[in-house]
Amino acid sequence: MEINTIYTASLPVMEHFYTLQGEGFHQGRAAYFIRLGGCDVGCVWCDVKDSWDAGKHPKMSIENLVSEVKKTPSEMVVITGGEPLMHNLNELTTALQAAGLETNIETSGAHPLSGNWNWICLSPKKFKAPLPGILPHANELKVVVFNKSDFDWAEKYAALVSPHCKLFLQPEWDKAATVTPLIIDYIKAHPRWELSLQVHKYIGVP
Ligand code: SF4
Repeated sequence: MEINTIYTASLPVMEHFYTLQGEGFHQGRAAYFIRLGGCDVGCVWCDVKDSWDAGKHPKMSIENLVSEVKKTPSEMVVITGGEPLMHNLNELTTALQAAGLETNIETSGAHPLSGNWNWICLSPKKFKAPLPGILPHANELKVVVFNKSDFDWAEKYAALVSPHCKLFLQPEWDKAATVTPLIIDYIKAHPRWELSLQVHKYIGVP
């Protein structure tokens, strides 16, 4: 495949690595992560603040990114950030799918949807709410719970996504001791929700 002549975009990449998906519906699957630079959402508890300034991260060509993924036996690529939808992802996802890879995204939805996706994980943030256009396309709604008011926030978006969208509540890492028991009680009372844990942090992989 002569991707060099077809794909011209380049994207700021903070890091890229092959690991296990630690969160949500695909938890436990091998996945190649591409973490793009740039985010203007501003979550106070963000654990990747280094990603915020896209200018700090070197640009990589689509060809180079696909070739790095293809050095591994990965079947699934997760595009994350930062906020990956600050960039147009049409070329990247077209190239990844043409190389036989599943494309997944983790996004706040705060910027217009671009790209061709096998799986969209929407993780809405109070600091910059999602745009309505992404809501019917979300395969998974993953709400990070920082305090009790986040349950109402979660329900607000659960009412807006498609009926087939998987629903996950995930404790914010530093608040996990306090909020995990609240999430357990909430899921027992509202069983359409499931628990998502950041398993990669427990098993010590990136
Ligand atoms: S959207 Fe993600 S990268 Fe951006 S501030 Fe929030 S947690 Fe951090």
